[in-house]
Amino acid sequence: MTMDTIVSLCKRRGFIFQSSEIYGGAGSCWDYGPLGVELKNNIKRVWWRDTVHLRPDMVGLDASILMHPTVWKASGHVDHFSDPMVDCRACRRRFRADKLDETPWVHFCPTKTDARFDVPAGEPCRHCGARRTLCPECGKGELTPPRQFNLMFKTYTGPVEEDAALTYLRPETAQGIFVNFDNVLQSMRLKLPFGIAQIGKSFRNEITPGNFIFRTREFEQMEIEFFVNPNETIDGRPADEVWHERWIEERLAWYHRYGIRPENLRVREHEKEELAHYAKRTADIEYRFPIGWSELEGIANRTDYDLKQHARFSGKSLTYFDEERKTHVVPYVIEPSAGADRSLLAFLVDAYREEEVRGEKRVVLRLHQDIAPTKIAVLPLLKKRGEIVATAHEIRSLLARWWVTVYDDTAAIGRLYRRQDEVGTPYCVTVDVQTVGDVDKGEAGDQRVTIRDRDSMQQIRVPIAELPTVFRQLLDGGTWQQVGGRYGIGG
Ligand code: ATP
Repeated sequence: MTMDTIVSLCKRRGFIFQSSEIYGGAGSCWDYGPLGVELKNNIKRVWWRDTVHLRPDMVGLDASILMHPTVWKASGHVDHFSDPMVDCRACRRRFRADKLDETPWVHFCPTKTDARFDVPAGEPCRHCGARRTLCPECGKGELTPPRQFNLMFKTYTGPVEEDAALTYLRPETAQGIFVNFDNVLQSMRLKLPFGIAQIGKSFRNEITPGNFIFRTREFEQMEIEFFVNPNETIDGRPADEVWHERWIEERLAWYHRYGIRPENLRVREHEKEELAHYAKRTADIEYRFPIGWSELEGIANRTDYDLKQHARFSGKSLTYFDEERKTHVVPYVIEPSAGADRSLLAFLVDAYREEEVRGEKRVVLRLHQDIAPTKIAVLPLLKKRGEIVATAHEIRSLLARWWVTVYDDTAAIGRLYRRQDEVGTPYCVTVDVQTVGDVDKGEAGDQRVTIRDRDSMQQIRVPIAELPTVFRQLLDGGTWQQVGGRYGIGG
């Protein structure tokens, strides 16, 4: 499956649209449509539930995007948050110097006559040792030597655009947590180790955004700063190192829990030279995207770097009093930093299946039910029968009190099922003639409806009055076999 398959499904079915499309689109900006916003909200919700609500050692925060400009001096972003970039002298396109090697290139080697070589990705010319010098897009222009390009978006606060009013859109949510460390510590009376979690938008003026929502200039992060006492040991090992490993395991387990297949996830250690200026160790969780293995989440040991820097620049003490050792310490911090948009892309890609059912292709998103945008679709078998339609509407309003439930009568039933499969709706409820009966023939309805399971396509018949209980069981961890089994599963 290619990225194009996902992009086209997303557009066709209202998950993700290109931003400002009617004006020709805004580069690398994307809008979440009716189903996309539900999916993204669900991902954020389960992350928040599992990270903040279910853990006794975590609290939440929602800091502002605009911060005091000194924050970014202290954090090192003004000086270090840059990528080396090169420009094409002909078409003026700009590329990340460290990514240039990722595509094969054509080289006219000066050491050979008539030499036109196709040089594979990541390799220099075998004859002269040159790396790519011509633009990978237009193929004509010479590339400039690399220059550092700061990725922070600048803006001005207030009406006057002068240096004193210069500030930045945050490039990560983390700093909002560090500068609030003492506020949270004092107000919540926390004991180490504890974490502060936050979900919010971040902005980076990426040189080469692309690959759909994988790399954009505006994106959402789900970040945890987990503070650990550096004087503590666990089984004879420094507590920060142990917690780092625990978080890597925990975060991997989280992606598995919501349906990502283990063979599509791996952990990649950062090399020494690759480590950010603040990091003691960083491990990335990578996912096998259609573009190849790429970072889904970074888990860094940021040591006491940030708190110390903010203490130095602000003149405020950012320490924790260790009662046991009667000493003030600056906690170390483990940071699992995930992208909400990148996670969404991984969940979509992993859930996407093309299956053959009775000689026909069925596209199905096998999304975990906690993150599926719509949980239940109520479908009338015949839309010309008033009682069927009315009953279906009633059922929709009833179930919508607890779960995202939609009504659809715009096609024949087979088609309606396929449409729900394609957007990952776990269950469909169908109202038919038997449900409502036939007054003309003097037949009473049985007040039962059919529930169809997305993954097995099996069906059960359930009294309308029992629907809330059945769905409570099905959508709260019960399996189809267990719950459906009580009603006699049929094909
Ligand atoms: P990359 O190497 O891909 O640029 P990074 O190492 O700079 O990423 P981090 O600073 O570790 O990324 O950010 C943490 C997470 O935030 C990433 O794992 C990713 O999920 C998300 N993220 C970072 N930059 C972007 C972006 N431009 N678009 C979408 N998500 C992003």
